[in-house]
Amino acid sequence: MGDRLEELEALARQLEPDRSTRDHWHQAVTTYGQSFTDQLDELPAFAPLGDKGKGLLEAPPAEEPDNVENVLQLIRDNVDTPGLNPASGGHLGYIPGGGLYPSALGDYLAAVTNRYAGIFFSSPGAVRMENMLIRWLCEQVGYPSTAGGNLASGGSIANLMAVTAARDAKGLRARDVENAVVYLTQQVHHCVDKAMRIAGLGEMVRRFIPMDERFRMKPDELAETIAADQKKGLKPFMVIASAGSTDTGAIDPLPALGDIASTYDLWFHVDAAYGGFFVLTEEGQTKLQGIDKADSLILDPHKGLFLPYGLGMILVKDQNTLLQSNKFEANYMQDAQMVRDEPSPAEMSPELTKHFRGMRMWLPLKLFGVKPFRAALAEKLTLARYFKKQIEQVPGFEVPLEPELSVVLFRYRPNEGDANAFNQELIQQLQKDGRIFMSSTTIDGLVYIRAAILSVRTHRDTIDLAIRILQEKATLIQKNGTVS
Ligand SMILES: *Cc1c(COP(=O)(O)O)cnc(C)c1O
Repeated sequence: MGDRLEELEALARQLEPDRSTRDHWHQAVTTYGQSFTDQLDELPAFAPLGDKGKGLLEAPPAEEPDNVENVLQLIRDNVDTPGLNPASGGHLGYIPGGGLYPSALGDYLAAVTNRYAGIFFSSPGAVRMENMLIRWLCEQVGYPSTAGGNLASGGSIANLMAVTAARDAKGLRARDVENAVVYLTQQVHHCVDKAMRIAGLGEMVRRFIPMDERFRMKPDELAETIAADQKKGLKPFMVIASAGSTDTGAIDPLPALGDIASTYDLWFHVDAAYGGFFVLTEEGQTKLQGIDKADSLILDPHKGLFLPYGLGMILVKDQNTLLQSNKFEANYMQDAQMVRDEPSPAEMSPELTKHFRGMRMWLPLKLFGVKPFRAALAEKLTLARYFKKQIEQVPGFEVPLEPELSVVLFRYRPNEGDANAFNQELIQQLQKDGRIFMSSTTIDGLVYIRAAILSVRTHRDTIDLAIRILQEKATLIQKNGTVS
């Protein structure tokens, strides 16, 4: 047995490289990361898909090691070249992500020390860090001290946790589902529907409440529909509002919807995955008034706080609702449950062992301070109005709505031919050019292009460039008649 152990140990110890190997790898990786960051101004926002990263398939994990230079080359060619570059300031599609550099360092630290952030007893510091960030956000949105929350992997999972918390808080049982009613609009993010199905609520009655001309839920229609449903013997259960819808950035009238939900004793959920962090600005404070009426709300730090992907947030007005929905007992956890000055993330979420996500949020906030975040968010709101003003001056373009937050819908009206096909061609041409990336949407049968301004690296010169490219491409399509 001794020989065998010696042999295995010698091989196993390869997993713990010495200082000089670590330095070598570290150097190679940070050099790669630093030059990527330095080049962001020149790198395209969207690059041709080429062979779509197939090179990775030719180099699967093998028994023997590869060297770090080869490995980084594989990443460069197959991962960091084709497709969308969300770190680019030219990313104006969907809802842009960010990628603040200190967040990467936070992930590095979290991974190296590997503190167990699921349970207070294991790492009181890690848990306090996460809970402190949650309380900080609770204060920003005007929640009382009974509030709490959890750092999730993204907005979709945060929405799922909100739906399960609502289900359990309202005591909705499987047999009630067919008669339970959820109220929302057609503009609610698709992940909410996914969440309801996963939570076993797929058979619930869905009432899509009509919207005003700016795609905001009409409160009087909501109240009437709830009352009518009650009369029919149905069980109104939950109202879902958007605070910054993905399509148009519309904010539902939160104060009125919150009051109606409370009158009828329904759970009020606000999806603020995109728009929530604008509460850090004065303008956002005004626009998001009433958000504190939500029983639950979600925000995405990997959108509005410019962090790299992998961080969503759920806040609940009464922390006990999340605890109730996720509580557990396990004999093998009995020692860990003795020390509990603060609630543990594992008690507030479906996860037990989890990534120590707090560090990637805390480090940038500490190293930068909050002030530049407020400024960057206010900048995005102003850039949206600037984009609207500029694009409206280019003949042929029209903007149907004043931007509510930082998403601007617009379209080109060609002299003749199919306008939808024209705008789709325009999107194609933008992607081919690659310096700017925008995505489109269809509302009431009309194709619109969206300028979604939320990347930390998007500034006035990016918008000027976008306007020039749009003008140039539209003129070209108009002239060449690429579109029938
Ligand atoms: C992005 C978004 C989501 C989904 O969040 P993920 O982090 O992508 O899972 C949900 N709702 C809204 C309004 C969003 O913008």
